[in-house]
Amino acid sequence: MTAASKDIWVFGDWRNYFQNRITLQLLARARELAHITGGRVCAVVFGQDVAEWVDEYIAHGAQTVYVASDPALYRYRIGAFTALMVGLAEQYRPETILVGATGFGREFAPKVAKRLNTGLTADCIGLDIDADGLLVQTAPSFGGNLIAKIVTPQSRPQMATVRPGIFQEIPHNAEAIGEVVEIPVPGDLPGERVRLVSTQKQPPREQRLEDARVVICGGRGMGSKAKFKKLFELARLMEGEVGATRPVVYAGWADPEALVGQAGRHVRPQVLISCGISGAIQHTAAIGDADFVIAVNKNENATMMRLADVAVVADANQFCTALIRALKERLRG
Ligand SMILES: Cc1cc2nc3c(=O)[nH]c(=O)nc-3n(C[C@H](O)[C@H](O)[C@H](O)COP(=O)(O)OP(=O)(O)OC[C@H]3O[C@@H](n4cnc5c(N)ncnc54)[C@H](O)[C@@H]3O)c2cc1C
Repeated sequence: MTAASKDIWVFGDWRNYFQNRITLQLLARARELAHITGGRVCAVVFGQDVAEWVDEYIAHGAQTVYVASDPALYRYRIGAFTALMVGLAEQYRPETILVGATGFGREFAPKVAKRLNTGLTADCIGLDIDADGLLVQTAPSFGGNLIAKIVTPQSRPQMATVRPGIFQEIPHNAEAIGEVVEIPVPGDLPGERVRLVSTQKQPPREQRLEDARVVICGGRGMGSKAKFKKLFELARLMEGEVGATRPVVYAGWADPEALVGQAGRHVRPQVLISCGISGAIQHTAAIGDADFVIAVNKNENATMMRLADVAVVADANQFCTALIRALKERLRG
């Protein structure tokens, strides 16, 4: 076992790479944090023939990549991945382990934390370092009614899962050089209690909500599914994407992929148009990085109106109809 390090580890989640670049986002934030704490930024990759991911992680900021490559790791296996991660962490003793809050990450990280006898903050929406050098993990808590800042003063490693879309990856640098540490894969990896029957890749959205330059967000105030559809036309005209609040998703006006908020996606557009949305914290927690916000609401006192750069007191449906007409006229003429 080596001495405890200040290193920050990022788990390499490569499954839905082009749809979900969470690993690169975490590497970018880890670099900023390591700047303060002085540790190295390391990626950990388990799989088979993973050389392309190793290069990719180095090009995006990893200084060291721990690699376990073996046919037994061809697919994600929760038991095997957990055992490997725990063994590695016990050997190299990183200060922090960050995992994307993806379906797999949400299953994997708690198991690793339990086995390492440390804490885990799930679904973080922010990571910082405090004056004592501790990782400040910001996460919604108490049913989303509070945003908590959590530190792990004693146990190590500090562990967090982090929502995709919160941090921005650094540009790919093909010249970057990193150290690669090959990890031997033991022959007695634990068997799985779950049998994978089949997998199916979801078709990618035309543009990811997290990456969209323009986001049109609709809430219950749009009134009906038919009226909500106008937002898609508006988004098409503005080359943007449509986001939705939870009641809208529950009502089936938009698919769950469109949910913006603490239970959904975090957006950072140049322009956000918020239509018929009250501005509950569970929603606004995920729009704070928008450059310019236009809110449309019948109620001038709605929280969303106070948060916006421009607040339009109007019927959201009529506003959208008028904007669509104006945009079409402009395109024609
Ligand atoms: C644990 C938990 C997690 C949650 N996670 C999320 C999440 O991730 N994302 C999320 O969005 N919510 C989430 N919620 C729900 C959240 O608390 C709010 O209930 C939700 O955001 C409200 O959605 P809304 O603004 O569309 O609806 P409402 O709060 O009902 O607001 C509708 C707004 O429309 C306005 N309005 C009405 N008619 C018109 C009109 N004709 N024209 C213009 N304006 C009009 C009203 O004045 C009002 O301001 C969560 C809640 C919990 C408890």
